[in-house]
Amino acid sequence: MNRDDMLARISRQPHPWDVVVVGGGATGAGVAVDAAARGYSVALLEQSDFGKGTSSRSTKLVHGGVRYLQQGNLSLVREALRERSLLRQNAPHLVTTLPLIIPAYDWWERRWYGTGLKMYDWLAGPSDFGRSTTLSRDETLRRLPGLQAEGLRGGVSYYDGQFDDSRLLIHLAWTAAEQGAALVNYARVSGITKNAGGMVDGVVAHDLESGRELRLPARVVVNATGAFADAVRQLASPGIETMIVPSQGTHIVLSREFLPGDTAIMVPRVGEGRVMFAIPWRGHTLIGTTDSPIPEASLEPRALDVEIDFLLQMAGRYLRRIPGRRDVLSAFTGIRPLVGPRQTRVTAALSRDHTIHVDPSGLVTTTGGKWTTYRRMAEETVDRIAHLAGLPSRPCVTPSLRIHGFDADAARHGALSGYGADAFAIEALSGGEPALGERLHRDLTSIATEVVWAARHEMARTVEDVLARRVRALFLNARAAVDAAPRVASLMAREFGRDIAWERAQVAAFTALARPYLLGDSPCPP
Ligand SMILES: Cc1cc2nc3c(=O)[nH]c(=O)nc-3n(C[C@H](O)[C@H](O)[C@H](O)COP(=O)(O)OP(=O)(O)OC[C@H]3O[C@@H](n4cnc5c(N)ncnc54)[C@H](O)[C@@H]3O)c2cc1C
Repeated sequence: MNRDDMLARISRQPHPWDVVVVGGGATGAGVAVDAAARGYSVALLEQSDFGKGTSSRSTKLVHGGVRYLQQGNLSLVREALRERSLLRQNAPHLVTTLPLIIPAYDWWERRWYGTGLKMYDWLAGPSDFGRSTTLSRDETLRRLPGLQAEGLRGGVSYYDGQFDDSRLLIHLAWTAAEQGAALVNYARVSGITKNAGGMVDGVVAHDLESGRELRLPARVVVNATGAFADAVRQLASPGIETMIVPSQGTHIVLSREFLPGDTAIMVPRVGEGRVMFAIPWRGHTLIGTTDSPIPEASLEPRALDVEIDFLLQMAGRYLRRIPGRRDVLSAFTGIRPLVGPRQTRVTAALSRDHTIHVDPSGLVTTTGGKWTTYRRMAEETVDRIAHLAGLPSRPCVTPSLRIHGFDADAARHGALSGYGADAFAIEALSGGEPALGERLHRDLTSIATEVVWAARHEMARTVEDVLARRVRALFLNARAAVDAAPRVASLMAREFGRDIAWERAQVAAFTALARPYLLGDSPCPP
C-alpha cells in the first residue's frame, strides 16, 4: 500500500465509482473488501489514519458476546459466533484462542454460568475454539494465579477469540487494495454532491496533506463513519434527524504481573448491566468494561476520571494485587456508535446489532454492530447497495476470502506473528542493517524495522500512526511510546526525505497526544 499510488488510482478513474466509502474503520474497510472482491470499482476515504476512530480502541475480543446471551439475544450471539469462526479461518495470523474464566464467589454462580455457557457452546456448533467447563476452586486459582482467592468457590471456563484490532484493519485495507480498491487516509470528506433530482451522486474531499480538493462521482455513497455518521448525513441533508447515541468505553492497561498466565477473567455483572474483562494482551493486562453515553463524539476521546476509578475499583475487587493510578501504563477510550433515542441513559440496554439506513437522498449509512461482525455487516450493506444503485448482481465471496498476510503457522514468527506471511519480508528488511533489528524501547517488543515497514508498505504517515496503530505502543505503555517517539520520527524522516524540523514537530505532536493516556498519581485534569 502506498498513498501516492492510491491517489493516482483515484485521479485515473475514468467513470463514476460504483461505490465510494466514507470512513476507514472496521465497517468501511469491510465494505471496501466485500464490494471490491465482487468486482465493483471502490474508493474509500478516511479523514485521519485507518483505525483512528473506535476500531483501534476495542477490547480486542472476537466473540459471540456472553453479555448478549444474558439479554436473551440468541440470534445476535449465533451470528457473531459464526463470524468468529470465519474470521479465524480467513485470518489465522490475526485471531488466537483466548481462554476466559468467570470466577464464582456466590454458591449459585457456577451452576448458573455453567448452564449459560453450555448454551454458548451449543450456539457455536462444532467450533474449534473449545468447550466450556466448570472448575473447582483449586483449578480456577491454578489457571488464574492473579485472581482474588478470598471467598472464591470455583469458576466456569470458556473460550473466545482475541485479535489486534488496528492490525486487522491494516490487513483489511491491504486486502481491499489487492482486490482493486483505492484507499486514501488523511482525506476528509467535506461535502456530498447531488444530481438534479436531489439524489446523492458523489463526494467532495480534501487531501489533508496537499490541501488539494478531490471530487469523486459515485453511483452510491456509503457512510461508514461510526460515531460521526450523523455529521456526514447532515452534509447530504442539513437538519436531518440524528440516529447515533455515542457511548464511551474506557480501558486501562497494567503490567502482566497483575494477571499472569494466558487466561482472562470475565465478570458478567458489575453494576448497571456492565461486564468487566481483565485480559492478557501482548504481554500486558487489559482491563475494560461496557460503555456509558456521552453528549458528543470526538476523534481523540478522553478517559473520564470516574471511569478510571471504576475500573481500578473493579480490578481491585477481583485481582489479588490491587492496582492504583500509578500502575496504569495506558488509558484509552473508544466510542460505540449505538443507534437509538438521544436521551438514553443506560446504553447497556441499547441494541448492539447493526443498522443499514438509507436516507431519502440515497445516502447509505451502515453503523453499529461490532468488530467481530464487520464481515456480515459488509455483506448485507453491499447486497443492499448493489440493489439500490442497480449494480450487476454478484455473489459475496468474503466467507472464504483470505485476509492479507494469511499464514496458518504465524506463531513461528514470534513477536511478528500478527504480520503473518509479511513477517519474512520484515525480517529481511533488517538484514543489512543490524540497528533495524533493535527494539524501539526496552519495555516494548517492537523493533525498528517495523517502523520502516509501516512507512513503506502500510501507509503510516505520522509518528502517531506508527506508535498508536501499527505497533500499539501508545496503547500498551504510553510512557515508553513517548520515549520511543524521537527514534520513530528519525526512521520515518529517513524514509520520507523529511528534515529535522519535521521530526521535531512530529515528536511534539505525539507527546501532546499521548499525555491523556498517562495518568500518573494525580486525578485526571477535568
Ligand atoms: C470500548 C469499546 C470496546 C469494544 N470492544 C469490542 C470487542 O472486543 N469486540 C468487538 O467485536 N467489538 C468491540 N467493540 C465494537 C467495535 O470496536 C466497533 O463496532 C467498530 O470498531 C466500529 O467501527 P466503525 O468503522 O463503524 O467506526 P470507526 O472505527 O470509528 O470508524 C469510523 C471512521 O470514520 C472516519 N470519518 C469520520 N468522519 C469522516 C469524514 N468526514 N471523512 C472521512 N472519514 C471520516 C473516522 O475518522 C473513523 O476512522 C468495542 C467498542 C467500544 C467502544
